[in-house]
Amino acid sequence: MNDLYKVGLYIRLSKEDEKCGESESITNQKSLLLRFVKENSHAHYKLYVDDGYSGTNFDRPAFKQMISDIEAGQINMVVTKDLSRLGRDYIGCGEYIEKYFPAHNVRYIALTDNIDTIIDSCNNDILPFKAIMNDYYAKDISKKIKTALITKQKDGKWVGGCPPLGYMVQDINKNKLVINKKEAYIIRKIFKLAIQGYSIYQIKEYLNENKVPTASMIRGSRGNSKFANYGIWNTKTIQNILTNQIYTGDLVQHKRIKLNYKIKKVVSNKKEDWIIVPNTHEAIISKQDFNEVAKKLEKSKRVKRKKITRLLDGILYCYECKHRLTICSPRKSDGKTYLVCNYYRMYSKNKVCTSHAFNYDILEKEIVKIIKEKIYKIDIKDISLRIKKYIDNNKNKNILQNLKMQIDKKRNYLDKMYLEKLDNKIDNEMYNRISNKLKLEIKDIESKILELDIPNNINIEDKVKNYLTNIDRELIIRLIDRIEISKDKDVFIYYNFRNH
Ligand SMILES: [Zn+2]
Repeated sequence: MNDLYKVGLYIRLSKEDEKCGESESITNQKSLLLRFVKENSHAHYKLYVDDGYSGTNFDRPAFKQMISDIEAGQINMVVTKDLSRLGRDYIGCGEYIEKYFPAHNVRYIALTDNIDTIIDSCNNDILPFKAIMNDYYAKDISKKIKTALITKQKDGKWVGGCPPLGYMVQDINKNKLVINKKEAYIIRKIFKLAIQGYSIYQIKEYLNENKVPTASMIRGSRGNSKFANYGIWNTKTIQNILTNQIYTGDLVQHKRIKLNYKIKKVVSNKKEDWIIVPNTHEAIISKQDFNEVAKKLEKSKRVKRKKITRLLDGILYCYECKHRLTICSPRKSDGKTYLVCNYYRMYSKNKVCTSHAFNYDILEKEIVKIIKEKIYKIDIKDISLRIKKYIDNNKNKNILQNLKMQIDKKRNYLDKMYLEKLDNKIDNEMYNRISNKLKLEIKDIESKILELDIPNNINIEDKVKNYLTNIDRELIIRLIDRIEISKDKDVFIYYNFRNH
């Protein structure tokens, strides 16, 4: 018997996986894992089963139990059927496989993916990409779920959570905005100053001098009072207020989109994709005043240089002081773009850190080259086949099945109500009210089913190729955790996966 390892066999089945056939079932996972134990004569093993848990996060009871057993030294090997059973969250999986497991001397094996962290095989080199593709399926599913939210936005319902300064949600209808009198005067003042010709900077100075409270002060949100800028107006906030059409009574949503369903990075959406529904709530600012301010802002904007988001924006850091490196605007003299340590830039008077001036364009070219070399190694055909199999077998079938079940339930309920009405257990008015509501809900689900039932004949291989060869910010952020540059111009790349 082999008692070198104390083996944790981890099994996960999500609600989406549930009815997709034998391959992902608990029984099948279990029998595969037990066969592994037998073949390798492991003397000690323990089963961990998360039944009904999604792989997009690690908030799962059995998984947590396994982690605490690892901490207690009771487990030093983790085995799953494949990588997606561990999780579909690329960054999270990377954290465990690349950092946590090695740090706790735990060997990780994904049986059908041929991943074994103890063997330095080339399979491990493509592990991050397999993980990315796992992530990719989940992303596709989250898109489908998002459409429901967008439908609400198109109906002019507020779904944005915390409303902008000046508004609050109605008590009885959380999807409707009403004016917050305690805040609206500030909005009116800001617009008034702008119309009088104050620049954004001058408005900021005015508000601060007159101690006009900021949103975080009024709403008592966890304003971080230890930050020097707590309760102080900045130009960005004022700019946002002056350009927010919501103050004219129009509901503007879908302005920002999550880059990814779980990373908290949010990017601006293209203006033509915004969802604007006019006159859904009471205006604080007239459309005429709003447009007048917009014209004024447009004029002053022309002088300013447009800020473009660079490929490596947000992941560049100073090696010495660990603060961010700012990507400066291109120099007027030669058009070159330089990086500068933000800490140095802000407090250069205090002689902290050094400038770290580094030519950004050269860095970007170099990084893209490195990433391309990594991508060149992966087997797109293999990944495409896996995705295709997944889409064909599980995704729509599960969601569809689920939706159809929901309809069935509601129809049954309708029938029951009808019988109750005949038995005079409920009156006509109540019957009409509830049955209308149910019928609407059924219609809603039916339209969702139609949307999903479209045959799946997209070319997956092209999609994957496109996804991996088009090196955009999204891909960069997934692959690279941070890049640090030292004062001697050494570049350190920290990946979200183990680097070979
Ligand atoms: Zn620095």
